[in-house]
Amino acid sequence: MINQFEAELARIRFVLVETTHTGNIGATARALKTMGLSRIELVAPKHPPDAEALVRASGADDLLERAGIHPTLTDALSGCRLVIGASARLRTIEWPLLNPEQCAQRLIAEAAQGDVALVMGRESSGLTNDELARCHYLVHIPTNPDFSSLNLAAAVQVLAYEIRRNVLERGEASVETSTRDLATAEEMEGFFGHLAETLSQIGFSDPGQSRTLMKRLRRLFNRARPDRIETNILRGILSAAQGRKSPSPDAAPSVHQTHGISCSSE
Ligand code: SAH
Repeated sequence: MINQFEAELARIRFVLVETTHTGNIGATARALKTMGLSRIELVAPKHPPDAEALVRASGADDLLERAGIHPTLTDALSGCRLVIGASARLRTIEWPLLNPEQCAQRLIAEAAQGDVALVMGRESSGLTNDELARCHYLVHIPTNPDFSSLNLAAAVQVLAYEIRRNVLERGEASVETSTRDLATAEEMEGFFGHLAETLSQIGFSDPGQSRTLMKRLRRLFNRARPDRIETNILRGILSAAQGRKSPSPDAAPSVHQTHGISCSSE
């Protein structure tokens, strides 16, 4: 039964942000391999996987060897259509929150369409608010509110187990998923950068004071899950507001071009 889901499992990546202890990277590899998962992406780890990581991987060396190392979270999320951030704390800013089972269901359902990511924070301080703002959802493993933080690899184990359980119980766990060609994480970052730049140029917001505004706008657009054509339309509008005929450097089509794409595909 699980074989039917091999492609989906291979599209689920666990992204570890600025991990301090290589032992935790190794233990993550072991946690993932036991659950039939295989993809680890590291964002600026303090040290690359070493002998300690190998010991803790207990034979999941192949996952460590294949782990990507990236300078930024944006690089590690390249190509992802869904990003979920794991948080030990319930945040003050309201963000769509999933429990581990809902998280697994979403990952599996969307992995049928493309790459998806689960982002794990630093041992010392978790994920920053800016990193959480990159996520469509947060997942929190219900723990003792007075002692809520699991060890990094232990949190990976719980979330990975839920994914496997969900796969084994497929059918019952079907989640409505979109077959639209959703904008990827880096396309959304391009859009958010362009939006911030335009808001400042048209005098709507002062970049120094607009962090909360951008967070709210991120939440709005992440909830909408725009597809590629829609993101291009939005960027075309931004370019027009900026008084540019041609697209911004990372290529939003012009308004007319965009309109053409939109009409022809609908
Ligand atoms: N001290 C940090 C937690 C670090 S634990 C803090 O207070 O935020 C390292 C990572 O493991 C977290 O960033 C998160 O991604 C994951 N994690 C730990 N406990 C978790 C929980 N209860 N629910 C979801 N993720 C958790």
